[in-house]
Amino acid sequence: GVELDVDAAQRLHRHLAHFVDLGEGACSEDGGNRHRWQVRHALDFSIDPDDYAARLAIVIPYRDREQHLSRLIPHLVTFFERDRLARAIPYEIHIAEQAPGRPFNRGAIKNAGFAVAHANADYVVFHDVDYLPIWADYSLVHEPTSLITWGVQEESSEGPSNTPGCALALPVDDFVRINGYSNDYWEWGFEDVDLQQRIRLAGLGWSRRPGTFMPMPHEHHGVTSEGKANSGTQRTRAIYLAKGAQGTAGFGGEGLSTLGFRVERTVQWVRNGVPLPQVLHHHIVLE
Ligand code: UDP
Ligand code: MN
Repeated sequence: GVELDVDAAQRLHRHLAHFVDLGEGACSEDGGNRHRWQVRHALDFSIDPDDYAARLAIVIPYRDREQHLSRLIPHLVTFFERDRLARAIPYEIHIAEQAPGRPFNRGAIKNAGFAVAHANADYVVFHDVDYLPIWADYSLVHEPTSLITWGVQEESSEGPSNTPGCALALPVDDFVRINGYSNDYWEWGFEDVDLQQRIRLAGLGWSRRPGTFMPMPHEHHGVTSEGKANSGTQRTRAIYLAKGAQGTAGFGGEGLSTLGFRVERTVQWVRNGVPLPQVLHHHIVLE
């Protein structure tokens, strides 16, 4: 659609220069094996119009969060209409809804969403349903890049976030190369740190952009009322630790290439009575 105003974009980026230095980051849970990443900052002062011409697929892993979804979709579509830079980006939103039955599997349903979306995309953003972008840079990424630095729910420190979740962007080729997410984490947790291991073992970089998001509150699904890991989280943690114990072989053997799924139906999202061709809601059965 809209032509990018390169001069305006350049000025905006200059104003954001004070965000640039956020230092290094680490993943939160790594089974006693602390791997630290040097977090690069993708933000620089030069705007390349090509970074706003590449095709973006936003994939939202989803089940049973109707109130979040019905706020996020109009918010995102409006963001891409109104934001001075984002409005130049050709994008599609793919809601990947996991059918009822088995426990939720965030990695596998993201893989399925990617599988249906990637043919028309150069890069993908895996987007939690419960984060609204306030200010965020959705332009092309050249390596795995988190789009969120500020606003992560329940972040204990006041500093910038280290999370590998919420809004993670990858070039399509990188995601294929690491064989996507693991399909092995049914229930809450660890598919995102598993992905970080895949990225690290493939020798890919990791960067973070200074985006601010607003989290929509919900109960924490991975813990008991006393704040301890629940039985599902204990299982996913054990799976992650077992993979780590296998060393390099533990990560990447299964994933995108081994996923079995079927799309039961796909429907367009309707906003104010008008169907949006760029927002597709897929109902997916994981096999
Ligand atoms: N999710 C969902 N339904 C579920 C569990 C998870 O739609 O029952 C999706 C949703 O996009 C959510 C993301 O997976 O934002 C992460 O799950 P959750 O919000 O429970 O994790 P946390 O907030 O603890 O990171
Ligand atoms: Mn959440």
